[in-house]
Amino acid sequence: MSEAVQPTPAFTPRVFSGIQPSGGLTLGNYLGAIKRFVDMQGSGVETIYCVVDMHAITVWQDPAALVRQTRELTAGYLAAGLDPTRSILFNQSQVAEHAQLGWIFNCVARLGWMNRMTQFKDKAGKNAEKASLGLYAYPALMAADILLYHATHVPVGEDQKQHVELTRDIAAKFNHDFGTEFFPMTEPVIEGAATRVMSLRDGSKKMSKSDPSDASRINMTDDADAIAKKIRKAKTDPEPLPSEAEGLAERPEARNLVNIYAALSEQTVEQVMAEVGGRPFSEFKPLLADLAVDKLAPISTEMARYMQDPAEIDRILKDGAGRARAIAAPILQKTYEIVGMVGA
Ligand code: ATP
Ligand code: MG
Repeated sequence: MSEAVQPTPAFTPRVFSGIQPSGGLTLGNYLGAIKRFVDMQGSGVETIYCVVDMHAITVWQDPAALVRQTRELTAGYLAAGLDPTRSILFNQSQVAEHAQLGWIFNCVARLGWMNRMTQFKDKAGKNAEKASLGLYAYPALMAADILLYHATHVPVGEDQKQHVELTRDIAAKFNHDFGTEFFPMTEPVIEGAATRVMSLRDGSKKMSKSDPSDASRINMTDDADAIAKKIRKAKTDPEPLPSEAEGLAERPEARNLVNIYAALSEQTVEQVMAEVGGRPFSEFKPLLADLAVDKLAPISTEMARYMQDPAEIDRILKDGAGRARAIAAPILQKTYEIVGMVGA
């Protein structure tokens, strides 16, 4: 069992997390999420991983692109080492209980809570009046994704911490309002050197698959040339790397590249600094590019192989949806009973 996954009283430890098929996978998704999902697989805890297509459509998705992105994300999970016999892997829309519990949580969450969500503010931008209602309600659906499985631990990147905290608020209010201890207080699991990989063009902005600038990110499907070029062009300052990790504190772009190097090589930042501290970027960037190509090329080759057999991907998702529903349906049924909804 990973050290981060300790049982919470009365609930069997269970891991849930998801990624949106809102574009191609980035290095941020790999290091902040997928790689850690795979690592948790061997921890003796049930692991449930989702392609959250209902979250993706909170912003416009071309239908044909959504189909391809859903399969490509699934291929990315599989290529990175997610084993559909050891984990449950499925797409959210195929387990209707997510939407059903999401509605209940829309009625539990308070407008004041939703108004504090920074992801909505970032994504809606200046023109919030034109944003979809779904984008605003997104965190309540995310709470449903997690609590539908009574998940106790959610591995995510730093940017999702606020949404997991909201999930706890929703669980606590539901439990309090109905006088029950039905939902667990889920813990976010945010660990490692790359919990917030930044844009290669702007050290103050998160690397995102939906960023309009392709140069801002490394895609899992980029070839060696594209990776090397993007790292060579990554924004930095003119100074060489500092000799100690503390020297990175005020240098976001340098810190980002060092963090990426640490996560890819599975070292601490201190170990990386012992290796490359004091070197100019003209030496460090090629080292980073080689490492990134080394780690990502086998995954992207494997992704391409899976993509040649979409029927097999669809079969894996369907099988996962059936297994997910077997856990979700009784939890939703019990929720309905607690709330007072009459049914069989
Ligand atoms: P979008 O731009 O559509 O929101 P995204 O790249 O932010 O896409 P998500 O599907 O929203 O990806 O997030 C999936 C997971 O990847 C989450 O756990 C999130 O915290 C993590 N993640 C996303 N971007 C990064 C990043 N730059 N660094 C580390 N983790 C990240
Ligand atoms: Mg995101």
